[in-house]
Amino acid sequence: MNRRSIKYHLLMLLLLITVKSMAQSGANFIPSSASNQLEMWQKETFDPKTIDKELGWAQEIGMTMMRVYLHHVAWQQDPKGFKERLNEYLGIAERHHIKTIFVFFDDCWKDSYQAGKQPEPILSVHNSQWLKDPGSRIDREPKLMDTLEVYVKDVMRVFGRDNRIMLWDLYNEPGHFKHGDKSWPLLKNVVKWARSVNAVQPVTIGLWNPEFKAFNKFQIENSDVITFHNYRDTSALKQALDTLTGRGKQVICTEYMKRPEGSTFKDCLPIFKRYQTAAINWGLVAGRSQTNYPQGNKGGEPEPELWYHDIFRKDGSPFNKEEIKIIKAYNKTAVIDDGPYVFYKNGKNFIYRIVNNKVTTISDQKNFKVTFKEPGKDFEVKLQGELKTGPVDYPMPEKLFVLSDIEGEFNAFRSLLLASHIIDEQYNWTFGKGHLVICGDLFDRGLQVPEYIWLLYSLEQKAKAKGGYVHVVLGNHDVMNLSGDFRYVQPKYLESAKLMGMDYKDFYAKDTELGRWLRSKNTLEKIGGLLFLHGGISPEINKQKWTLEQINVLARPYYDQKKAMVPDSLKVLFAKDALFWYRGYFVEPKITHAQLQETLDHFKAKRIVVGHTIVADTVSTHFDGKVIAVDVNEHEGKSNALLIEGQKYYRVNERGEKQLLLEDKK
Ligand code: ZN
Repeated sequence: MNRRSIKYHLLMLLLLITVKSMAQSGANFIPSSASNQLEMWQKETFDPKTIDKELGWAQEIGMTMMRVYLHHVAWQQDPKGFKERLNEYLGIAERHHIKTIFVFFDDCWKDSYQAGKQPEPILSVHNSQWLKDPGSRIDREPKLMDTLEVYVKDVMRVFGRDNRIMLWDLYNEPGHFKHGDKSWPLLKNVVKWARSVNAVQPVTIGLWNPEFKAFNKFQIENSDVITFHNYRDTSALKQALDTLTGRGKQVICTEYMKRPEGSTFKDCLPIFKRYQTAAINWGLVAGRSQTNYPQGNKGGEPEPELWYHDIFRKDGSPFNKEEIKIIKAYNKTAVIDDGPYVFYKNGKNFIYRIVNNKVTTISDQKNFKVTFKEPGKDFEVKLQGELKTGPVDYPMPEKLFVLSDIEGEFNAFRSLLLASHIIDEQYNWTFGKGHLVICGDLFDRGLQVPEYIWLLYSLEQKAKAKGGYVHVVLGNHDVMNLSGDFRYVQPKYLESAKLMGMDYKDFYAKDTELGRWLRSKNTLEKIGGLLFLHGGISPEINKQKWTLEQINVLARPYYDQKKAMVPDSLKVLFAKDALFWYRGYFVEPKITHAQLQETLDHFKAKRIVVGHTIVADTVSTHFDGKVIAVDVNEHEGKSNALLIEGQKYYRVNERGEKQLLLEDKK
């Protein structure tokens, strides 16, 4: 290694370390005022004001990297002005603490292009004016190759030591749009040109199609950092990460997020976090590139209900507020508010909470508050002292209000209870002798898990004082959190644990108040001849002829144990297709009416009410009303509960509106 190359490698190592040290996120960026690369970079339409405003939104959600496409035509008209504008852009990005990946060539979208005023976008058509660079022009004008060489070398020489650039992406999706093998000469050349410049930043050519084996091999070999695109679901994403990580090179996903295909922030970011991979989604602001519209539109279609790509509207409001929370949490720059958590040590309690990323502790308190940033939401919790497991069989109360799978969505839960007058604004129990039943899954997905559990905990006492009752039966996510399976835990909680100098598993351990409380809960209960549980009773469980009491007693000691610790005779309770996880009422292989009747007869029940499986947007009935499904997607703002009054069963929405579902025969 000569001196220059030692320096080069050291610098590169530094850059790699800064990128690798944390899971970061970013977006592919074009300002909303540009429809393509030429509108972004040509003098007449270069728009630093919009760039500044929109990168500010990216900064606000904690993004630290943007991937930005260039175009040789913008350079060719005016190399000096072009580089000045790159410099101006980089200055704006730097003020927002954002590093940039510049992309040189691209095989996607429109093949013909010219300098000057760009055609207007075709209304509702995805990327209607996005340009290939150089596209098929290179086949017709072989001399263009020389121009491109000068272009790449010029830009990389000028910016090759610029630490505002984190990576050079030499060629986007080579071979795409039927270019196939025609893309080879330029691909090989651009690698050669880039290497000859000796820029300090690493280079990459992103993998985009697992079928393109020869391309992929070349691209991996010639990338300092492996980048890839994945717009498919999480299993494809995991497969890509498993294939690409562990090669001794850093991996970054430079394109993902296509909501209708299941590539979402909610599902993908936890995976990126686990692999410590930076994640760059398609689209920051929905603008003239119209990439919030699906591919395949012909023109004039309305805005899709579920956006394809992009995060913000042009006015800065997000497409989905929940996604913003998820992105912020992932980026760690989010302000963490969490807790309280009550731990016991040497006969004393210690109450931890995090407000604005700051941990505070108080000890030896019997009462404390659960606090919120929004005014009027705080509530008081009294520690219960002794925690007893409730009975498994109850007579029919006056009224029953049943829901499930809240998974930390505190606000959805609170609104639902308020609308149906279960509680009032001050969290008083206003449901009288009514019973509230939660069919499991208190944990995961949502971002206010302990707040939600404390509310249940405190309502339990308030209800009892008024002759009412709160039932909580556990679901698979609850058992997962107790037993150390943290696959669905929001990254926020892992960060919280770090801030508190603990492990996430400590939060609900045996020596915590919520841990004790959860361990005291049942798995299934019968109320007024109705069976309530999370998943369902499989025919295999029926074979055991266990009573209600037996199932609860047998399962409880293993809530917090790894699967391997469960004795063989009880494995049937914790299996993938059993109690907590069962979906056989709704999903193939479905049980028969006779098998369902066997369960009902065995437990002397007339109906079964379950959560866990989303079968409709509302509470729904199955098997002639013998099975009622109460799980709805709270994360998409769909709140629904089951209300039973006397003989009548209603579904109730978040506005408290009732709709009769069925009626018991007198
Ligand atoms: Zn579940």
